[in-house]
Amino acid sequence: MEIAIIAHDRMKADLVQFLNKNQSILHAKNISLIATGTTGAKAENAGFQVTKMLSGPMGGDAQIAARVAEGKTQMVLFFKDPNSSHPHEVDINMLIRVCDVHNIPLATNEATAQLLLNAISK
Ligand code: PGA
Repeated sequence: MEIAIIAHDRMKADLVQFLNKNQSILHAKNISLIATGTTGAKAENAGFQVTKMLSGPMGGDAQIAARVAEGKTQMVLFFKDPNSSHPHEVDINMLIRVCDVHNIPLATNEATAQLLLNAISK
């Protein structure tokens, strides 16, 4: 199963902490991680194996949306920062829409991300 991880700048540390906390589920379920560029680099620095797309503002969210549309990514964990605006807001909204079009589970905060991982850990 391929899971996409994305975190806005102020949420990147939280995402890395979340990955560490859920290391055993990720390993047990043989999850392949893909990520936007900077998020992926942070996860790599923390010891995770991640396929990195472009950085979000350079089209990384759009690349992940394409993988969702192609049926290659089965879940998106997006630690969004609700308190900042982003130059690539249209790409972010496009990713959310594509997940809805293809009925792909999408978390936009940590609590939901945890519920989704718990659900697949069963
Ligand atoms: P980044 O992109 O991981 O390259 O920072 C995240 C985003 O803002 O979509």
